[in-house]
Formats: sequence, structure tokens, C-alpha cells
Amino acid sequence: MPRESKRKKRERAERVYDLLAEEHPDARTALHHENAFQLAVATILSAQCTDERVNSVTPALFERWPTAAAMAGARPKDLEKVIRPTGFFRNKTKSLLGMTRAVVQEYGGEIPDSMEALVGLPGIGRKTANVILGNAFGRDEGIVVDTHVRRLSRRLRFTTHDDPEKIEHDLMDLFPRERWTMLSHLLIFHGRRVCVARKPRCEECVVSHLCPSSRV
Ligand code: SF4
Repeated sequence: MPRESKRKKRERAERVYDLLAEEHPDARTALHHENAFQLAVATILSAQCTDERVNSVTPALFERWPTAAAMAGARPKDLEKVIRPTGFFRNKTKSLLGMTRAVVQEYGGEIPDSMEALVGLPGIGRKTANVILGNAFGRDEGIVVDTHVRRLSRRLRFTTHDDPEKIEHDLMDLFPRERWTMLSHLLIFHGRRVCVARKPRCEECVVSHLCPSSRV
């Protein structure tokens, strides 16, 4: 493919976004939650685990420990028992207790709504912070880069990087801020349904004419 100017790339990115938005009108986070606390907990549990499995344990979890203050006082053994099906349950228990205790001590029991404060909490990195800010607070502070976003961004040549933070930086440069949160949902949905890891279904893909990796 010939070298693409920044302007052309932004135009192509905009068209890809619009087509994916039409194709996946249901794109949103699959983690069930009613508030920022629940989303923070669900996102921590989702590491190395499917969203469906996380959703299967969170109702019992939130019934027993409905707030950060309640969870901060949980006995580790009790918490481990409930979240065990999500895997890595000992580490996840440590993260949940560390996160909720810090939220109680430093923020009066409320999940903070800034990137700086969120990444200062145990168990929360930039990716989790972006999930919380974008989906619980409606703030486009960054772009969630998971395995799907990474793969599609590379196939669509929105980036040549492999490192999530560099990919995020390239995407932030290409797309207007108000699209950042939805962009990652769209890429994740498209990655699950069409542009799958092993054999992308380019013949069914609505953006194949805009994709440098298209096989059709
Ligand atoms: S054309 Fe193929 S490689 Fe490109 S985004 Fe679509 S499915 Fe993925």
C-alpha cells in the first residue's frame, strides 16, 4: 500500500468508524454493572476471564458486598469463594481488597473519576481506568486497548505498534475525543464477530474496501 497522508488516514478512520457503528449498533461493554464501583470490580475480575463468566458471579458478589466499604471489610476467604470461577482468584481478591480499602480511605468510599486517581488504586491500570471513565462516568479520557483493539488497529493500519500504550496514542491521534470510548466497543464487537483472530471473515466485512489487510 502506498504511504498514506495523515489527512487521508483520518478520513479513512472516520469512514471505518461510521460503517462499524452502523454494523454494530449494540456495541457497548458486556460487563453488567449499575455504577462505577460495580464496573471497577467487574473489570478487575475480567482479567483472563470471559465477560459471561464475570457476569455469572457478580450478582451474588454485589448482593453480599454492595459497596466499596462493604467489600473492603470482607474476609479474604469469603471473597475468594465467590469469585473463584473467574480464575486467578487469590490475586483478584488481593486487588479487590486493596482497591476498595484505598477507595474508602482516600475517597470516602466513592470510586474517583480521574485517570490520575484511578491508576493510583491497587489493581487498576490505565486500561481498567479507561473502561471505568468511559463507561461509568461518560468521560473520553483514553481508549481501551485489549487484544481485539490491538489486532484490528494493526490490520486496519491505524498503527504499526504492538505496545498497548503506543497503539492507544496512535488511535487518540486519529479519532476525535468524543469517539474514543465507542471506538473500542466497535473494534471489540467487530473483532469478535467478523475480524476474528485466526481467519478474518473479510468477505463479510463492511470495511474490507478500506482495510489494507483485506483478503478480498
Ligand atoms: S477486511 Fe478482513 S482484516 Fe480487514 S478489518 Fe475486515 S475482516 Fe479484518
